[in-house]
Amino acid sequence: MDFSTELGIRRIVNAVGPATRLGGLPLSEGVMNAMRAAVEHNVRVDELQEAAGVRIAQLLGVPAVYVTSGASAGLSLATAVCVAADDPRGVDALPRIAGPRRRVVVQRGHRDPYDHALTAVGVELIEIGFPTSTRPGELARELDGTVAAVLWRPGHAGDLLPLDVVSRLAHEAEVPVIVDAAMDVPPVDRLQVLFAQGADLVAVSGGKGFRGPHTSGLLCGRPDLIRAVALHHQDMDVREQTWAPSEVTGVGLRYGRHGIGRGMKVGREQVLGLLAAVAEHVKDPDRHEPRYQAELSALELGLGRDRRLSVARTHNHHLAVPEVQIDIGATGHRADTVIRALDAGDPRIHVGEDQAWRDVLVINPMGLHAGEGEVVADRLLAILQSDPDTTSPAERAS
Ligand SMILES: *Cc1c(COP(=O)(O)O)cnc(C)c1O
Repeated sequence: MDFSTELGIRRIVNAVGPATRLGGLPLSEGVMNAMRAAVEHNVRVDELQEAAGVRIAQLLGVPAVYVTSGASAGLSLATAVCVAADDPRGVDALPRIAGPRRRVVVQRGHRDPYDHALTAVGVELIEIGFPTSTRPGELARELDGTVAAVLWRPGHAGDLLPLDVVSRLAHEAEVPVIVDAAMDVPPVDRLQVLFAQGADLVAVSGGKGFRGPHTSGLLCGRPDLIRAVALHHQDMDVREQTWAPSEVTGVGLRYGRHGIGRGMKVGREQVLGLLAAVAEHVKDPDRHEPRYQAELSALELGLGRDRRLSVARTHNHHLAVPEVQIDIGATGHRADTVIRALDAGDPRIHVGEDQAWRDVLVINPMGLHAGEGEVVADRLLAILQSDPDTTSPAERAS
């Protein structure tokens, strides 16, 4: 009996992709083995972070790395470092900001719900420009001694400031640039581009494209800033008199007791699981591509039986994976009702709903097991062939 049956909850066919609300993607045998081995012995977690950070930085070709509990935690820790650096008083005070740098600048067109990860640290977010346009002068005039960082996000459409322009202006004012690349790395070469364009800290999810543990992530960046991350993150319930210097770096205790990141703790299994996932990815970045293609082709073949559907193969530029978009407008059904029916049915299916406002369903293959593309097509056709007005009650009854 699997755990979901035992607990009396229904499992889900995941056609959404790496969604936190569904628990992320399946983990490979190699990642699971690394996680299992990770919990067999104790180590000092600060030393584990230092050593694993060096390995991951080498694999990815970036200056330095810290393993976080996700990109969101990475954004919080990056903000904490930009505000308080390695000053023990500043570290202990957060989210009360002890120094002058208490504002983070972001283009209006880059705003996102994950901005909460920055404001949680106590900073004020300053918006510049308009939803699809920012001028360089609108950034330059904000960059005074009260600014801790500029936040930048890839892949937003419009006449927005590119990273190299943002970095040049920010660095002239000695302000670091934080990039939220949660969903945009891998491909790994994008990381090198971000650093070439001046990023100081880049937050990446471990559980999205890297297919690592879902509660893991990477903060990559300048070695001086990455070194300071630990001060905001490690649990240091120790005596100053007894804590030896790190055997990896030789650096002694510089910590406060608990930084603002203490609640974002990272287990050994996350650190070593993500290291294994990154290594697997770097070795063969395209290893899942045939499976993605096979599931989406089976889905398209199945959906071809209903001529009212407009089915398009698209590319998710953030995650760099193929997807299928299904326009159900001509069937008379509304996407919201169909999504509810897929959830209520058997098997229980979740699909991407970013485009549901225009009656388009999105199928992402990253979380599909073999054969599930066809399952999704069959369920969808069954729902769409019922009378639109009765979809919801009928599906609940079935
Ligand atoms: C997913 C995502 C995050 C959060 O990543 P986690 O690893 O789940 O914490 C942050 N920013 C953006 C843009 C994202 O898509």
